[in-house]
Amino acid sequence: MKLLILPRYIFPIFLLLSVLVANNQQTITILGENNNFLGKADILKTEQYYLSVNDFGKIIGSGSFVNHKTEKIVIYIDNLKIKLSSNIAFIVIDDKTYQMGSKLIKSNDEYYVPIDDFFKILSIHGSNNHSIDYTTMSIALNSKIKKVEKSVPTVDLTKEKNKWEFNTIIIDPGHGGKDPGSIGYRGTKEKDITLDVAKRLAKKIQKNLRVKTILTRDEDVWMRIQDRTRLANDKNGRLFISIHANSVEDRRASGFETYMIGTNKNAAAVRIAARENAVLDLEGANSTKLTDEDLITATMAQSGFAKQSEQFAALVQEEMDKRLQSKNRGVKQAGFYVLMGASMPNVLIELGFISNPNEEKKLNSSSYRDMLATSIYYAILKYQKILND
Ligand SMILES: [Zn+2]
Repeated sequence: MKLLILPRYIFPIFLLLSVLVANNQQTITILGENNNFLGKADILKTEQYYLSVNDFGKIIGSGSFVNHKTEKIVIYIDNLKIKLSSNIAFIVIDDKTYQMGSKLIKSNDEYYVPIDDFFKILSIHGSNNHSIDYTTMSIALNSKIKKVEKSVPTVDLTKEKNKWEFNTIIIDPGHGGKDPGSIGYRGTKEKDITLDVAKRLAKKIQKNLRVKTILTRDEDVWMRIQDRTRLANDKNGRLFISIHANSVEDRRASGFETYMIGTNKNAAAVRIAARENAVLDLEGANSTKLTDEDLITATMAQSGFAKQSEQFAALVQEEMDKRLQSKNRGVKQAGFYVLMGASMPNVLIELGFISNPNEEKKLNSSSYRDMLATSIYYAILKYQKILND
């Protein structure tokens, strides 16, 4: 008798458990052009949401091509070929490499991408606009299209998209706290100059532009490089500006220059990058030396942003050249750690040489620092215009 009774108790418990398990398995709705329902895709939730690439590929009709041996996946979206690899944060779109904030996860033979990073990179690459809504758990593809009403005259969607995109600037005042940066001939500390210029710049942007600014530090505190770039990525920055002041042995060296990441082997640029990277000693890192391989990987990861980084760097130089009685040293490339982690167009500006007594004096004047901030502000203004054109 007992044997017959037992299953009666077990069966409802089993039912209840399977309902619970089913509820735990989350999905996200994929909506098409006019908000029409395309399908539901599996998602995973850790600290962030991940989307099943396999499901997404099926839903948008392109399928996903998985090589189970190499764990590489190819999917097609808007005629773009997108390559992903298991446990790798890099994503290749039409042979351009981008870096997501997190790696591709494999779970139960399905592959999952971090949703926010994935769609952000797609829009940076120029794919149609997508919007993600976690309250309704839905992803709308081409969401801008549904907002265009018939009575409205033709709206340039590319312009709309770019305006929408360029909404947050990360300003990174170099050094801080226990890391003074370079020390000038008269004892000026780089960390004070960079913070002041960064604050002035943020104020000008807040006052005049509809763009949010986030400072990686707004007081004299020490901050690890990786925390600066993580903040930039977490806050979805569209432009990362790291501000520094230069210093070399030769006290005659002067002028301003703007760097983007690159594999350049120019001796002077390498020396300056080495000095800026020396902060890693304070972070307890084993080596402050970037290997060639590190630099190539980082440059590749940034290649998707190279054009915009260079455009912005050139504008900074141009605007400073207009206002400052100082030498224009041009746009350069070097391996700066702080330019490695931020997944957005990014530059490092060396405002001037505090090792040069004359230039140190200028950098110590608030009107000169204001001119520096004004120059960067105008570079942003022009950059924004380029994006919207
Ligand atoms: Zn510096």
